[in-house]
Amino acid sequence: MIACDCAVCESLDEKDKRFRSSILVESDTTTIVIDTTPDFRSQMLRAKVKKLDAVLFTHPHKDHIAGLDDVKAFNYFHQQPMPVYANELTENAMRKEFEYIFDEKKYPGVPEINVHRIHQTPVMIGDIPVTPIYVWHLKMPVLGFRFGHFTYITDANKIEAAELEKIIGSKVLVLNALRKEKHLSHFTLAEAVDVAQQLAVPEVYFTHISHQLGFHETVCKELPSGMALAYDGQVINIQ
Ligand SMILES: [Zn+2]
Ligand SMILES: [Zn+2]
Ligand SMILES: [Zn+2]
Repeated sequence: MIACDCAVCESLDEKDKRFRSSILVESDTTTIVIDTTPDFRSQMLRAKVKKLDAVLFTHPHKDHIAGLDDVKAFNYFHQQPMPVYANELTENAMRKEFEYIFDEKKYPGVPEINVHRIHQTPVMIGDIPVTPIYVWHLKMPVLGFRFGHFTYITDANKIEAAELEKIIGSKVLVLNALRKEKHLSHFTLAEAVDVAQQLAVPEVYFTHISHQLGFHETVCKELPSGMALAYDGQVINIQ
């Protein structure tokens, strides 16, 4: 955290150095990114992403959309607009916060995007099947996504039974866990562990972690088996 000198922010462990939450989902032919965080540019450079087929958005909070402008690099190299999948709430926020992208007469060099509205219905992006999962972030509906045996959920503090059903059978789950103390709109670590245990997913990683949660290494040791904190740059292979 900017201007913080707590032990976690000062930690020399690379696993305690966290960009905002985002993941890349790759198959043999298709690459999707979930959310364009304020760190999007650095994340794309770090992961050396040369081809991006689509962006999927979870919700319109700034820490999940602020990096959208930088998709223009992919426009330049792919010579086509970037397909962007968003629900109504996120699309409305994008139209407001990135007004210039939606202008009739665009300034040269601004990003080109094609917005696809995403609902409850599963969609195929390239060869990747995407099942939207609706979760609650206090009163805001947020989209989680299941891709085959892998489910990614961020910024939730409540998941209704019908949506939990959609996660069951996943081999790997990434779920948000902000810190140990109660929070208005994010699962605490204990709440996230509880959800993961109910779902009986064998391999679980926690993300969207605050510096207040503690050191990566220490917290990982406290977790039940099959669960760990996610870390920046982590690669998970799913069959
Ligand atoms: Zn700190
Ligand atoms: Zn949020
Ligand atoms: Zn967030």
